[in-house]
Amino acid sequence: MTTRNITIAVEQCDIADCSHAERVLIRRAQEAGKRAYTPYSHFNVGAAALLANGEIVIGCNQENAAFPSGLCAERVALFAAGVAFPDVPVKAIAIAAQDAQGFCEQPVYPCGACRQVMLETEHRSGIPLKVIMAGATTVEIVQSSKDLLPLQFEM
Ligand SMILES: [Zn+2]
Repeated sequence: MTTRNITIAVEQCDIADCSHAERVLIRRAQEAGKRAYTPYSHFNVGAAALLANGEIVIGCNQENAAFPSGLCAERVALFAAGVAFPDVPVKAIAIAAQDAQGFCEQPVYPCGACRQVMLETEHRSGIPLKVIMAGATTVEIVQSSKDLLPLQFEM
């Protein structure tokens, strides 16, 4: 048996050191999280997707008493972008979370299902989908959603 090691590059920096476009996207994700419907978890997540035409489409998590019926912020944003701009690539998505104490200090990472949707979004467009995972003051960035889902499922 052999072992294949997989390495991903995760850039880390202060939000203040991000580009203007990245900071705008993070701010939109933070604002979107305030609109989340989270009566069960009280954990609000916001996402903001930057499209190739410059549009920003936001999403926030939506919970439901029938738990599997809810949806994460990232997929709300990406699916909304798919409806409003079906042929426009998504260049980046920012994610930010907050609870009753305010914005979470550590960057929030997307769940497995959202990673799969990001990956297919990237495959559809043919351009990398940058994922910006924001904490209150620091951010972690991968330049492609592929980095978040090694050994990915593809059809
Ligand atoms: Zn998710």
